[in-house]
Amino acid sequence: MLASTKDILLKAHRKRYAVPHFNINNMEILQGVVQAGVNLKSPLILATSEGSISYAGMNFLYSLVETATRLTKIPIALHLDHGRDLKTIKEAIKIGYSSVMFDGSHLPFEKNVIVTKKVVSWAHRKGISVEAELGTIGGAEDDIRSRKIIYTDPIKAKEFVERTGCDFLAVAIGTSHGAYKFAGKVALRQDILKEIKQKVKMPLVLHGASEVPLSVVREAEKYGANLKGVQGIPDTQIKMAIKNGINKINTDTDLRLAFDAAVRKVVMKKPKDFDPRHILGPAREAIQKVAEDRIRLFGSKGKA
Ligand SMILES: [Zn+2]
Repeated sequence: MLASTKDILLKAHRKRYAVPHFNINNMEILQGVVQAGVNLKSPLILATSEGSISYAGMNFLYSLVETATRLTKIPIALHLDHGRDLKTIKEAIKIGYSSVMFDGSHLPFEKNVIVTKKVVSWAHRKGISVEAELGTIGGAEDDIRSRKIIYTDPIKAKEFVERTGCDFLAVAIGTSHGAYKFAGKVALRQDILKEIKQKVKMPLVLHGASEVPLSVVREAEKYGANLKGVQGIPDTQIKMAIKNGINKINTDTDLRLAFDAAVRKVVMKKPKDFDPRHILGPAREAIQKVAEDRIRLFGSKGKA
């Protein structure tokens, strides 16, 4: 059975650590992150974006995750990431996701309040929790694109949470989606985060928080990738963000980079091997390793 995202996050909020949200698109990614969670006894929030749903189909992805919950003992929740299409959100609620995100960050404040409130009423009727977003996270992820970062206003955040009844809030404090997070120096507004947490007192979510590990980037480049200028969020900033109130950290880019590096390596080194299992097997292991690093960093090890 799928676990409740809300239960997982309220515990993290009380005990002050963060739970990994891993984006999944296929069986190998799912198996890699689930094995990491099992090895380190961590709760997991597995997420499908609208992009991954159009790639693999909601039913396929739901069944994969549901199977994982039956084969393991750790709490595993299934979450809809960056829901913007209300039809997709309704389908996710109907099929039995643990939680849905409504991303109204591109809307004016009042409109974001109205639509988020509507999604909350649909989801809560079925015991499903809702993540909402206020402010703008930069960068690009699937179809979610935004060049400018608009920091979340702590006072508006309080009003937003009270009026919408959402269960957790994604905040914009300077992170950005994708592998090219900063042109220069990393600058996260930890001060704004602290103020938001004092005002809303609920689980907070950090998007665009991949580390973009240099060792993985170098490995991919060794086998032909062009990743010039990539930059992620340093571990020290992530630790500080958890201390200041972040309880869910989304990771997609780091998994993609690990998968890509592993596939490139096999394809380049073994030109005569065309067995998909030999190509995707090492990618699954690479995903597991990155996921374990994230779990250790977030402090969710042993919290299952
Ligand atoms: Zn995101």
